[in-house]
Amino acid sequence: MADAESCFTTSPTASLHNSTRENIIDLDHGDPTMYERFWRQMGDKTTITIPGWQSMSYLSEGSNICWFLEAEFATEVVRLHNVVGNAVTEGRHIVVGTGSSQLILAALYALSSPDAAEPISVVSAAPYYSSYPSMTDYQKSGLYQWAGDAENFDKEGPYIELVTSPNNPDGYRRKSMVNRRQGLLIHDLAYYWPQYTPISSPSDHDLTLFTASKSTGHAGMRIGWALVKDKEVAKKMTKFIELNTIGVSKDSQLRAAKVLKAVSESCKEEKQENGGESFFKFSYKVMAQRWKQLREVVDGGDMFSLPQFSPAFCSFFGKETEPQPAFVWLKCEGDVEDCETFLRGYKIITRSGTQFGASPKYVRISMLDTDETFIQFIERLSAIQERE
Ligand code: PMP
Repeated sequence: MADAESCFTTSPTASLHNSTRENIIDLDHGDPTMYERFWRQMGDKTTITIPGWQSMSYLSEGSNICWFLEAEFATEVVRLHNVVGNAVTEGRHIVVGTGSSQLILAALYALSSPDAAEPISVVSAAPYYSSYPSMTDYQKSGLYQWAGDAENFDKEGPYIELVTSPNNPDGYRRKSMVNRRQGLLIHDLAYYWPQYTPISSPSDHDLTLFTASKSTGHAGMRIGWALVKDKEVAKKMTKFIELNTIGVSKDSQLRAAKVLKAVSESCKEEKQENGGESFFKFSYKVMAQRWKQLREVVDGGDMFSLPQFSPAFCSFFGKETEPQPAFVWLKCEGDVEDCETFLRGYKIITRSGTQFGASPKYVRISMLDTDETFIQFIERLSAIQERE
C-alpha cells in the first residue's frame, strides 16, 4: 500500500474471502470514522445545498495568491485557529489543497530548486509517517529525493525536513532533528488539535500543514490547508496545485467552511449556559476513554507495551491534559520479533514498524475507528494477553 490512508483497494484484507473477513479487525488505516457520532448529533447544522449554477468557475473571487481559495473557507480557517489557539495566522498566506497530501507534494516542489545540481534531500526522524518516503520518490523527481531518518542525516548542503508534531505513528511532540542552517522545514501539524495533545502555544513556523481529515474527521472531503510565511513559496505551491489539479474542489471548500464554522461555534456555545458539548470536548472524552481502556488491557499482562506521555497545560481546555494520540504505537515485548505478523495471526490488521523506518517489534494501530470496532479490538487484545 502506497500510503497510509490512501489506496484502500490494496488493503491487506481486500483479497480475503468474505467468510474469512468476518472476524477481522482492520486498524491499519487512520480512517476517522469515530467522529461520525458527533456529526450525526449535529443533524442539519452542517448540511449544505449547492445550486447547479454555483461554483462553476475555476476561479475564486478575491486577490489571494492562492487564486482558487474560497473566501468563506479562508475565513473559517483563521477563525478556528484563533478559537483553538494552535496556530498563528497573521502574516500567513493560506494555500488550500486536496488533503494535506497534495500540500506535502506542493511544499516539496516549492522548496526545491530547478537549478540545483542534484535533487534536494528530504528527511524526517524515524519513526516517520509511512507515506513520506513513497510520496517523495514515487515519481522519481529530479527536484527532491527521500534521504531517510533525519537523525542519521549528515550530508552537507540544503535539505528539507518534515517535522510531524504530534508525530504519526508514535504520538510524541517533535522539533526539527537536524540542527543545521540550510534546512527548509515543513511542519506537518495534522494532529495538533486539543483532542490529541495539550495545546501549548500557537504554532509559528514558516510552512505549516493542517487537514480536515484529522481535525474534524472529514477525510472524505479531501481538504487540507497550508499556512505559509513566504510569498514566493505560497506562489510556487499554488502553481504546483494549478499544474496538478487546476485548483481544489470549491464544493469541498464550501462544505469545509461550514464544518469548521460549526466546530468554532460549538466551542462558543459550550461556554454559554445550557450550551451543548463542543466538538473538541466530545472528541477529547472519547479519546480519553479509549486510551484508558487500552492502557488497562496492556498493563494487565506483559505481552505489550505503550509509549508513556507526560501531561501538560492545554491553553484550549484551560487545564492539564494528557496526550492521547490518534494512533497506538504498540510494542510486542519478549520473544515476538514481528508484531504485525503476530497480531495478524489473531486477525488484527496493523501496520508494521518497518514501514515507519523502525523495528518490526512495533506496530501502528488506529484509535479513530468506530466504537464497535474499538471495543472488539480491546476484547481481542485482552483475550491474547490471557491466552499467551
Ligand atoms: N500528514 C500526516 C502526518 C498524516 O497522518 C496524514 C493522514 N494520515 C496526512 C498528512 C494526509 O492527510 P490528508 O491527505 O487526508 O489531509
